[in-house]
Amino acid sequence: MLRKIFSAFRNPAQYKTPFYPIEVRCNRCGETISARVNLHHDLSLLDEPGPGKSAYLSRKTLVGSGRCFQRIEVTLYFNGDRRLVHHEISGGELISHG
Ligand SMILES: [Zn+2]
Repeated sequence: MLRKIFSAFRNPAQYKTPFYPIEVRCNRCGETISARVNLHHDLSLLDEPGPGKSAYLSRKTLVGSGRCFQRIEVTLYFNGDRRLVHHEISGGELISHG
């Protein structure tokens, strides 16, 4: 019990976690689509600071599993600590991340 409480309060070390989870909702059918960004392999280093003083970006194209074939294009901007500082999305909305 005590151990459980302790781990619940512990801040997960995002920096060491290679996968950054995101959830988007399709604008067309409302389906929620989960994806994850591999923080070691999916990030591209920007030549100069991007939106929100970002250092990296990652682009994802997500398609739901249903009959809807809407493509959701997400661009995620991360700072040097690999924290999400800005995002752009078309075809859906970002409903949760990290
Ligand atoms: Zn859809």
